[in-house]
Amino acid sequence: MPENKHRDHRELGQEMDLFSFHDVAPGTVFWHGKGMIIWRVLEKYLRDKLDKEGYEEVSTPIMVKKSLFEKSGHWEHYQKNMFTLEVEKEIYALKPMNCPESTLIYSSRVRSYRDLPIRLSEITGRIHRNELSGTLGGLLRVRQMAQDDAHIYVRPDQIEEEITKLMEFIKEFYGLINMPLSFNLATRPDDAMGDPAIWKKAEEALDNVLKKTKVKYKIDEKEGAFYGPKIDIKATDSQNREFAIATIQLDFQTPERMDLYYVDENGDRKQPIMIHRAIIGTFERFIGILLEHFDGALPFWLSPVQVQILTINDKVLDYANKITAELKSKNIRIELDSRNESIGKKIREAELQRIPYLLVIGEKEASAGKVAVRERGKGDLGAMGLEEFLDKCAKNQK
Ligand SMILES: [Zn+2]
Repeated sequence: MPENKHRDHRELGQEMDLFSFHDVAPGTVFWHGKGMIIWRVLEKYLRDKLDKEGYEEVSTPIMVKKSLFEKSGHWEHYQKNMFTLEVEKEIYALKPMNCPESTLIYSSRVRSYRDLPIRLSEITGRIHRNELSGTLGGLLRVRQMAQDDAHIYVRPDQIEEEITKLMEFIKEFYGLINMPLSFNLATRPDDAMGDPAIWKKAEEALDNVLKKTKVKYKIDEKEGAFYGPKIDIKATDSQNREFAIATIQLDFQTPERMDLYYVDENGDRKQPIMIHRAIIGTFERFIGILLEHFDGALPFWLSPVQVQILTINDKVLDYANKITAELKSKNIRIELDSRNESIGKKIREAELQRIPYLLVIGEKEASAGKVAVRERGKGDLGAMGLEEFLDKCAKNQK
């Protein structure tokens, strides 16, 4: 545990040139180039994984007629958090979540029991929630956000296998960023809807998964949502704060409200179970948490700039350009600082950006065909050849 309290992500965001906020759009983020790199790296990690795990990526409209939310139940229960607008005398809403629209894709064709599980991810969906402007706070509470959302439609007998995969996915990801997890299984409340037999089966499946994945967990009796049991997951950051980020929620209600079915082996209509799940939650909040967790010193694979080259004088510029081009061709995110400033000043500024590696190039390095490496948190590692340095980088790529 670090001794000093890590700094606020808003301060880090400004210092590292990641994002800004402007009065013209309260609670909405203006992402700068370097901030978007973090976003894109996370998105790529998730997308690569989803492609391997058999998800279909979908995209649904941001502005939808209120009739959809009346049917899904959001209009009744969530209306005060929704932005609405009138278009040609009809009321539309900006979607506060992706779920209802996902079901329209599910029900756009007849599904057979053999088609399930159907995994629809929506990673680029922009959702809006009307938080009061007084309650907004940096990236942690915003009005417009993108979730790494997915909806998985399963038969009751597929719950266990599907949840096992999700648990492994979540454990792997949080291991990568060094955030320990705790798990709670929230079970059937008294006002639950749906068949008690299905509830029991689902709770047993979730319990089995938690046992099988060998994680410590508690059971929160009767703390499930009225529409289904869930696994509550909390991640602990380096400051020992707990955040609910990832989630796995079963839903027996939405399939009923939205008339979802599949045709079983006897030709009968059966209702699928819907699983709502998120790994990082919203990109905005997650990046805020991540910045404070690492105090801005993001792991190499997430760093907007991974390597910065610092020249001692203009005589080494050709060599510095050559090294820059070579590292770029190896997909290293690199910047060259060839300003006429003292090397001390250049190092201090680069350190403020929390860049993992600084390569100092003077005439000695240029004539030896080497680079002098400084590693974040470790200081001077001495001179080395480019191949050796690239090996170091490769080891740090997740
Ligand atoms: Zn959902």
